[in-house]
Amino acid sequence: MTSSDAHDWSTAGFSTRAIHAGQAPEARTGAVVPPIHQVSTYKQDGVGGLRDGYEYSRSGNPTRHALEEALAAAEGGAAAFAFASGLAAEDALLRAVLRPGDHVVIGNDVYGGTYRLIARVLGPWGIDHTPVDMLDPDAVLAAIQPGRTRAIWAETPTNPLLGIADVEAIAVHARSTGAVLVVDNTFATPYLQQPLALGADAVVHSTTKYIGGHSDVVGGAVVVADGAQLPAGLDGPTGTTALRDAVGFLQNASGAVAGPFDAWLTLRGLKTLAVRMDRHQSNAERVTRFLLDHPGVTHVLYPGLPDHPGHDVAARQMTGFGGMVAFRTGDAESAVAVCGHTRVFTLAESLGGVESLIEHPGRMTHASVAATALEVPDDLVRLSVGIEDVDDLLADLAQALDAAGLGRVATGAGRGHAAGEDHQS
Ligand SMILES: *Cc1c(COP(=O)(O)O)cnc(C)c1O
Repeated sequence: MTSSDAHDWSTAGFSTRAIHAGQAPEARTGAVVPPIHQVSTYKQDGVGGLRDGYEYSRSGNPTRHALEEALAAAEGGAAAFAFASGLAAEDALLRAVLRPGDHVVIGNDVYGGTYRLIARVLGPWGIDHTPVDMLDPDAVLAAIQPGRTRAIWAETPTNPLLGIADVEAIAVHARSTGAVLVVDNTFATPYLQQPLALGADAVVHSTTKYIGGHSDVVGGAVVVADGAQLPAGLDGPTGTTALRDAVGFLQNASGAVAGPFDAWLTLRGLKTLAVRMDRHQSNAERVTRFLLDHPGVTHVLYPGLPDHPGHDVAARQMTGFGGMVAFRTGDAESAVAVCGHTRVFTLAESLGGVESLIEHPGRMTHASVAATALEVPDDLVRLSVGIEDVDDLLADLAQALDAAGLGRVATGAGRGHAAGEDHQS
């Protein structure tokens, strides 16, 4: 829509698309980075004489469009829509595909904010939901209520338990029942996982996380697959049944758009996503090995581990296992204590930035799902492994586990870390 960008980047590699799609040098000056169009309205050349379609920045803004084109190219989608937050993106997509009386199937360890949106915001508007184990496609099929279930919401890997959903298998059930399949691709990123190619109709992102990547901007996006349609039997608000038209309509009509500066920061992050993810991932693998060997750690959760319940599916549908690692210490007090003693890992919510973060999901990010089907173990610690020098990360974790009283557990004293012994190799 913006574009002086005539080149077709669709056959280029991932980073080439992330760096160039939607980002042709600016026509007047040749600026190689899209300018921040910090503007609300646009001069018309006579009534209705819009320049390149721009009328008002809620409806369209060149900086936001540059980000949207780049995100669509990165995910292999037909169109992308950038929002003020991940939850704003989710809200627009859910309202595009659901009507009062409809039902949605969600993962039983879906992101807490997604659960709150579906259960506590959309619930009172007549939307019903069923949480299931997304690793089990049969459980998904069993939860589908034919004629009523209009969306299946899969997150993979999940937050914070790093559960895996088999996107290809669930897509088959979505297609056969006329529901749309949405994948929250925030943890994997389009660099490591391409859900649209696996059959999903739409991808959502909290671009706040890895795509922005620097913990300096909150944002979200919906990316729609080529040809994706609204759920069977639903009419769109613009007279078509194309999913992209319905999401685009809602982006403007409810208006939770990404601002120009936020879009620009997010686009800046997207360009380096691949190199950052490579380092996040190699550091996460080292952290995982360290934790497996540590006597104070009872369980390590990482999809790259052969005994992780979703390992085989993850190995098939992802090109890497990502930068998130979780572990358990056996009791809530020691888990909280570890979180309080790190110096390189910062105690904070959120994830996906260059700096390493640590948190206690039970009392922080997942406090809102306590006493629901989505409650997480209270001895769980979540790490967002950053891109610092890995030796500093390992030393920091060692001293924090020590300070929490977990470091000097006698070897063989029965803090069963048998799971760990399976993957010493
Ligand atoms: C953070 C997050 C969200 C919500 O995004 P916001 O940008 O915080 O609104 C949704 N899904 C996942 C997996 C997340 O981590």
